[in-house]
Amino acid sequence: MNLLKKIFFIDFIKGLSLTFKYNVSRTITMRYPDEEKWLPYQRFRGLHTLNRDSQGRELCVACELCAKVCPTQCITVIPMEDVGTDLKSVPRGISDRIAKVYEINLVRCLFCGFCEDACPTTAIRMGRDYELACFTLDCAIADKKKLLTPRDIPAEFEGGFVVKAKFIRNDEGIKVKPDLSKKKRWW
Ligand code: SF4
Ligand code: SF4
Repeated sequence: MNLLKKIFFIDFIKGLSLTFKYNVSRTITMRYPDEEKWLPYQRFRGLHTLNRDSQGRELCVACELCAKVCPTQCITVIPMEDVGTDLKSVPRGISDRIAKVYEINLVRCLFCGFCEDACPTTAIRMGRDYELACFTLDCAIADKKKLLTPRDIPAEFEGGFVVKAKFIRNDEGIKVKPDLSKKKRWW
């Protein structure tokens, strides 16, 4: 068999056919960031989100488990009593304790997901935002307000393909806003 392969240059022809196949296949050029954006798969570990329950209450009870388990010690949690937000003292969280300060230093974060695993209330979750470049070190600190802000890509949205997108540049950095209704296969 090996002798026949050598006589008829089988491996050589196989290699050439592969090269030829790629020569005539569709060119893959992603026009990022001006027109297109790749949406990561659901299991992708990008910028974290702090979540709320269905009634809008903060799920984080400031137990600090995420900060303790973090291998780079990049999470800061300062707890406080949840005294509510208005005169009726409507609680903000699901317990009588919420985070006064919740910050993640993204420069040190490894995006390992340990914080997500340790959280008893599913408050902290790894999101799918990977455009984390910014102009100052200050913006590399993700504070509670930023983490509680809903993301452009909902958690339940599938990923692994390219969508149409709009390039936006402002003081906070560069963002590419995806149009989730217009998706196309990556290849
Ligand atoms: S992903 Fe890992 S390194 Fe980053 S904050 Fe969570 S535990 Fe820390
Ligand atoms: S995010 Fe979760 S683990 Fe971290 S302090 Fe809040 S409740 Fe605790």
